[in-house]
Amino acid sequence: MKTELLKIDSPQDTENLRRAAEVLRRGGLCGIPTETVYGLAANALDETAVKKIFAAKGRPQDNPLIVHISSTDELPALVREIPPEAKALAAAFWPGPLTMVLPKADCIPDAVSCGLDTVAIRMPSHPIANAIIRTAGIPLAAPSANTSGKPSPTTAEHVLHDMDGKIDMIVDGGACSVGVESTVVTLCTAPPRLLRPGGVTLEMLRDVLGVVDVDKAVLGELERGEKPSSPGMKYKHYSPDADVKLIRGSLASFARYAQTFPVSETLILCFDGEESAFANETIPLGAAADAAAHAQRIFRALRDADERGFKTVLVHCPDDRGVDLAVLNRLLRAAAFQVVDTE
Ligand code: AMP
Ligand code: MG
Repeated sequence: MKTELLKIDSPQDTENLRRAAEVLRRGGLCGIPTETVYGLAANALDETAVKKIFAAKGRPQDNPLIVHISSTDELPALVREIPPEAKALAAAFWPGPLTMVLPKADCIPDAVSCGLDTVAIRMPSHPIANAIIRTAGIPLAAPSANTSGKPSPTTAEHVLHDMDGKIDMIVDGGACSVGVESTVVTLCTAPPRLLRPGGVTLEMLRDVLGVVDVDKAVLGELERGEKPSSPGMKYKHYSPDADVKLIRGSLASFARYAQTFPVSETLILCFDGEESAFANETIPLGAAADAAAHAQRIFRALRDADERGFKTVLVHCPDDRGVDLAVLNRLLRAAAFQVVDTE
């Protein structure tokens, strides 16, 4: 299949929006920009189209998809119930990087929910994503547009790298502003529970809802055979081919530890100002306290590691506050939970 790359800079570009919408309406696959990461979209109500997403990504069959809408008016048709907590979260954070898990309506195909009785719904704030959904006039199932297990794509070039020849179209709408996937919270438990951290932080959810539990899988590793509440969390994920290790400890002890690896084969991801402690090539992720910058840069940095042929990536571990909880959650999986305390 020839993959068409289509640049759309403005939601006023109705001509090109119609072309992307047409691909989706006839059951095709289209990579789309969102504020979180690039999505691989298909008509969420078309089982055959949705199955193509799993094939293109090599996604495990038990990992359900998020359904994207362009207005809250589209929500009632997709779910059996909208609890008051969902209304409060939608009022506070939609459109934006928040996904809510709700009881699913019958129109949601099994291919989307992977047999669960629930469906994950999000309303993206990216103007091009919103315009594509609106123009297509259908809800879009869209996981991240990467090969399953690899770092998520934050530019159209990343999508092209993974999906060229496998999907119909990629809409290039520039780089993603948040840089990590949406926050996933389930409202099917009492109290609501955070399943995946993202751009809407735990602190922000608690400001609106009061009590919010944090699923054990957010920072922990599931035991063998343990059933995850969010199937996507069980996999080693977001990983480059290079071996990733998370480093906890002072800069000096990190730098000493780095010397035990071949310098030309080892990339360092650190905070601004730390570069000169290493003889290695480094990619700064922003100031240590700038969690938004860490989120924006992390996936590109992990992809760069492979592009440039590094065998090992050592990452200065962020803390777990604000959006850094999301960065830490992704890094733990990229590192298959290898955390080294260098003190
Ligand atoms: P992705 O779209 O690849 O960023 O992944 C979607 C995430 O949402 C995965 O972690 C899924 O497990 C999670 N998810 C989707 N639908 C549900 C659901 N019905 N219940 C719980 N988690 C879900
Ligand atoms: Mg993904």
